[in-house]
Amino acid sequence: MKSTFTIDDQRLIIKSYRSLLRACKPIIKKDSLKEIRKAFQFALDSHGNDRRKSGEPYIIHPLEVATICAREIGLGTKSIVAALLHDVVEDTSATLEEIEEMFGPKIAEIIKGLTKVSGLMGKSTSEQAENFKKILLTLSDDVRVILVKLADRLHNMRTLDALPQQKQLKIASETTFLFAPLAHRLGLHAIKSELEDLSLKYTEPHVFHDIQSKLEESKAQRARLIRKFVQPIEQTLEQLGYKFTIKGRLKSIYSIYQKMQKQGIPFEKVYDVFAIRIILETAPSHELEKADCWRVYSVVTDIYTPNPSRLRDWISTQKFNGYESLHTTVMGPSGRWFEVQIRTQRMDEVAEKGFAAHWKYKEGDGQHGSMGLEEWLSKIRELLESSDAEALEFIDDFKLNLFSEEVFAFTPKGDLITLPHGATALDFAFEIHSDVGAKCIGAKVNQRIVPLSYQVRNGDQIEIITSRNQKPHEGWLDIVVTAKAKSKIKASLKEEKRKVSMLGKDYLKLKLDKTKLGFDNNMLSRLAKAFHCKSVIELYYQVGNEQIDKASLSRAIKEIDNQAKQGQAPATLRKKKKNQVPQAEQGDKKATEVLLVGGDSIGLEYHLAQCCNPIPGDHIFGFITSKEGIKIHRTNCSNGPSLMSKYGYRILRAKWDIPEIEHITFHPVGIKIIGIDSPGIVSSVSQIISKELKVNMKSISFRAVDGAYKGTIVLEMQDTEHLEELIAKLKMIHGVETVQRFNNDDELGISG
Ligand code: MN
Repeated sequence: MKSTFTIDDQRLIIKSYRSLLRACKPIIKKDSLKEIRKAFQFALDSHGNDRRKSGEPYIIHPLEVATICAREIGLGTKSIVAALLHDVVEDTSATLEEIEEMFGPKIAEIIKGLTKVSGLMGKSTSEQAENFKKILLTLSDDVRVILVKLADRLHNMRTLDALPQQKQLKIASETTFLFAPLAHRLGLHAIKSELEDLSLKYTEPHVFHDIQSKLEESKAQRARLIRKFVQPIEQTLEQLGYKFTIKGRLKSIYSIYQKMQKQGIPFEKVYDVFAIRIILETAPSHELEKADCWRVYSVVTDIYTPNPSRLRDWISTQKFNGYESLHTTVMGPSGRWFEVQIRTQRMDEVAEKGFAAHWKYKEGDGQHGSMGLEEWLSKIRELLESSDAEALEFIDDFKLNLFSEEVFAFTPKGDLITLPHGATALDFAFEIHSDVGAKCIGAKVNQRIVPLSYQVRNGDQIEIITSRNQKPHEGWLDIVVTAKAKSKIKASLKEEKRKVSMLGKDYLKLKLDKTKLGFDNNMLSRLAKAFHCKSVIELYYQVGNEQIDKASLSRAIKEIDNQAKQGQAPATLRKKKKNQVPQAEQGDKKATEVLLVGGDSIGLEYHLAQCCNPIPGDHIFGFITSKEGIKIHRTNCSNGPSLMSKYGYRILRAKWDIPEIEHITFHPVGIKIIGIDSPGIVSSVSQIISKELKVNMKSISFRAVDGAYKGTIVLEMQDTEHLEELIAKLKMIHGVETVQRFNNDDELGISG
């Protein structure tokens, strides 16, 4: 093919290629340059005489993208080669097979990933967002795909002028929506800021140019103030022998705009805050760096008064994206606030270039930079592939939580469900289908059982557990956040109430037809009053759900009937049922779900913890373990405090629910007896246990030490009521001082 490029075009290409080589030099090994040259040649041949909308030869674009990868993200040879080739499969006749043959399977895989991303980008924004999320979530191939894609987008944004306005707007909004948050997540601060500024330039050109010109106007004055502020700091640091640089830091146009919008303040107010950055040339070492930063902090705050509420220590605990720095705001001369960032060179590079730079430093010397990168990439890949909980959390923080206002999770079949932030497993169930929601008794997230109130996290795979006997409860309204779930639950509660009321009405009619007054309003309102119901409808309902038990109802009817015969006023008729729960507790029970232990009504599996051996009657809680399902502990279990404080979100409220008629189960309980040694004590104890109370003993041992004795007995008990009775009886034995239940399974000898 004959080249149509002019001399100027050729000069431009050579200039761009040289610039790429310069960017590569510090980060890659010499023999890798051959690969890069080969990729450049292949891209040049493939794109041929193609030109971009701007009129430039097309090859300039991949060259610039590769340069961004090398210079601004610090990526290695493979990424640079992939960047050079990123558009050939999509835009030219070159095939993936050719690429695999020439550059190997790894590069071909990255190009394939990049082409897949491009293919999904052509649709409407919302659809696109979904697709984009899908790609990120299911991406287990190579993070380089995302990084090269970001570099591609950055260059496209830098050259957006050439496109028609309609396209500019589409690409710009896509950038703010998807790519800038992505860059942020990856810790690519400089790229994130540039993407945001460039987007604003096209979506809100007036605002952009307004802020830009105001920044320009105030430049000289700002520089003067900063110089005045910095001078005494510089002096002191020099005296102390520090090597450092101080930069006046420009806030990005986008961040100024955001602040103006969020706080409803004019440009001048935002720019009242000045910002500087002190970068120390401390050798990379956590201890040294930390100590130096704090020393400099102390220098700055000796000179200027800090605002204590604005101290941010990202050094002791780094940010989710690897960012490390010390931030403070101090009162400068002439009463202006100055934001001061203190960090080392290494921290600064990590802050600007993200994780890639971070891992480069892990390797120690810059020469083998791409080695550290490989390590980083493989670590990310590993994490993406593993289903380990902590890894999932890491990924969540690291890259998936792009859109804080919404979360997205998968069904077991892999369908994507998008929910608002804060949505729970129950919301997820209703989102699948209202029937699934209504019958939901629990959920498994990434194979682990969670309560209905579990907050969905990005990337969760959720399986809903249903039961035919389940019905929506009023307490569910506190668990769900989506409008869909709320309205379905309300509708179902209303319907349920209607049905129950109908049952109650029918029952009352049946009973009242036999009385003197019959099924009449006077009778009904007297009954309602007698049972403290607000209305007759409420009476129907309470009769229907047997909140008013049949015996009391019959008594009341009889009494009113008699009074009707004799003309007397009714007495208070409601008799409290023995096992009726007080109103307040009932409401409470509805508000949060409770795991019922003992019965077989619930579909969730649980085991009694062996560290504290709970028995019916003990106060208990459920704990969701990572491998063994739910474990039931006593609330006073010695492991309780640490479980609750560390894993509060895994705690389930639980209570015993032993069906009275069902078979009785026995649980091992250990008791410890201490007393004064006296003859016959062992036989007295065992007499009471086995003869009088008919309790099975699994083991018994007594030990006498210097006139005192210590006995440990393992018994099989039904519940705490029986245990308390037993303990009380044992305490009455002459010579027994204390009788205590003990927890430790070692002592119980029943572990395993
Ligand atoms: Mn491209």
